Amino acid sequence: SYEKLRGRTAVVTGAASGIGEAAARLLAAEGASVVLLARRAERLAELAAKIEADGGRALAVAADVTDQASVDAAVERVHAAYGTVDLVVNGAGVMLPNPVTDGRSDEWQRMLDTNVAGALRIVRAFSADLIEAAAEGRTADLVNISSIGAHIAFPQYAVYGATKAALTYLSESLRTEFGPRDVRVTNIEPGFTDTELRGHIDSAELSGQLEGLFSEVGALASEDVADLIAYAASRPRHVNLRQLIVLPTRQA
Ligand code: NDP
Repeated sequence: SYEKLRGRTAVVTGAASGIGEAAARLLAAEGASVVLLARRAERLAELAAKIEADGGRALAVAADVTDQASVDAAVERVHAAYGTVDLVVNGAGVMLPNPVTDGRSDEWQRMLDTNVAGALRIVRAFSADLIEAAAEGRTADLVNISSIGAHIAFPQYAVYGATKAALTYLSESLRTEFGPRDVRVTNIEPGFTDTELRGHIDSAELSGQLEGLFSEVGALASEDVADLIAYAASRPRHVNLRQLIVLPTRQA
């Protein structure tokens, strides 16, 4: 159990499914108040109801991290309901592989807007909260969900990998701004994880290839990654797990 999560106030983006959903469930089960942020309002409402039925505290806030006005409105709702946030999980992301030579600038834009600019919008929205919480002596965390793809070149995943490399770099650089203010930054780089992420691939060939790899190598469950988020956020406040790479055991 992660006793230090009791009483914390978390915002989890990408909470409608996968890693974000698992993280939200675990943080709530460990006593944090959790804001569920993603676009699909119904999914979020269902999850909030489940968390509350299990005795947790959750607020569903439908928002699109690619849309500044939507993020602004979300921040207002979060502050009105929960006050200052002390734990932010940047989980929202999309993965749309195709050869760069196909020139799919629509997909590039979506990935850049969501995985990089979206994460930055969330950082901008809550950095004052994190700094204020830390100044009050509370534990404050920013957790970014990057990917092993930030380091390893997967054919056809160049732009996705580039967005994740950007996020990993942002995590590193943000530590230099946040660390001296006692706000921790943790960058998590998972390998294959069984979520909805790969369901958005629009190439039958690449989709089939990835399904093959998942069945051959196996995959992490969302809960495996959520566990690391909870672990990192529940260390003593002078301990910052800066970078966590987690792979299914059989993934090279
Ligand atoms: P999912 O597709 O299950 O989750 C992605 C989440 O992001 C969904 O809840 C989705 O909800 C939300 N989201 C997407 N676009 C937006 C947006 N514009 N605004 C707000 N929310 C948005 O996949 P995962 O759980 O796998 O993905 C979580 C993170 O983990 C991603 O950043 C991904 O890159 C990363 N990752 C995943 C790996 C894997 O193998 N699965 C491996 C390494 C990293 P909604 O559609 O309702 O908005």
